[in-house]
Amino acid sequence: MSVYSLIIPIYNEEENIAELYRRVRSVMDRLDESVELIFINDGSRDRSLNLIRELQEKDDRVCYLSLGRNFGHQIAVTAGLNFARGQAVIILDADLQDPPELIPDLLEKWRQGYQVIYAQRTKRKKESWFKRFTAYIFYRLLQQLADVNIPTDTGDFCLMDRRVVNLLNSMPEQNRYIRGLRSWVGFRQTAIQFERDPRFAGEVKYTFRKSFTLAVNSLVSFSKVPLRLSTYLGLFSAFLAVLMALLVLYWRLYQPHSPLTGFAAIMIAILFLGSVQLVCIGILGEYIGRIYEEVKGRPLYTLAEVSGFEKIPTKGDFHK
Ligand code: UDP
Ligand code: MG
Repeated sequence: MSVYSLIIPIYNEEENIAELYRRVRSVMDRLDESVELIFINDGSRDRSLNLIRELQEKDDRVCYLSLGRNFGHQIAVTAGLNFARGQAVIILDADLQDPPELIPDLLEKWRQGYQVIYAQRTKRKKESWFKRFTAYIFYRLLQQLADVNIPTDTGDFCLMDRRVVNLLNSMPEQNRYIRGLRSWVGFRQTAIQFERDPRFAGEVKYTFRKSFTLAVNSLVSFSKVPLRLSTYLGLFSAFLAVLMALLVLYWRLYQPHSPLTGFAAIMIAILFLGSVQLVCIGILGEYIGRIYEEVKGRPLYTLAEVSGFEKIPTKGDFHK
């Protein structure tokens, strides 16, 4: 007999929780095995935690963690993975953009012997052109640069086998780009396609800043190409410098009155080199900042409350 775990990170999702539970429950009730439904409250400032507590009182299968403050989506999911006990673990967004009705399909693939089944978006409904455009560019850039093949247009919505979850749990990194780590593990992975629904209710919790940080994190965590960029830029500007020297020599010898040897040319050269150097230092800084984070080795999150993990759910568990 096996157990499935559903992991749902929650950050100010009070308008979504009731509908989310309704839809997840109707899927859970139809599954052949027992399920634990793990909510991770990521420092919500609204009524989310109270709503989760109420659900837990009604339903034995619900357990929850409440983090000490807002640690961000990836860390909230990490906390859920640390606590999940299922043989198959499914990560789901709280805003119903990832339809729970897809869970039986994910499980079907898992039974066929896949260790990671990720849901791939074929279409994003009602998201701004800016988000769609930047996401499009980002996923393709990441695929070009990353050391592992991170499939395009996949989110965190996926099913992972116990073996994969154990591996993720054993990774000590602070900068956790779960999609990347999941791909890094390898084994048998497959995709199922779906159309991503719009948010059921509430505001997007991933602000532009959070999305940008996630993008930089994923690039820096999974690629050393940006570091090499400074070497390439250095070589390129050395080449330009030689070219310029030859030109100046030519002008000196054959066209002593050329206006191009003046102030403007010097300014351009100074600004060009200055900015190349600053960009390179910035890129170095991104890596060094992350080394600093890792070296400190702080815990990934703090726990304010843990509830419902006393017993592993068995089939038939429902109302207390
Ligand atoms: N989330 C979280 N902590 C955060 C931001 C988001 O736990 O700091 C959760 C949020 O409650 C939701 C999921 O992460 O369940 C995805 O967030 P959102 O829908 O805002 O992101 P998007 O769909 O744009 O990727
Ligand atoms: Mg969303």
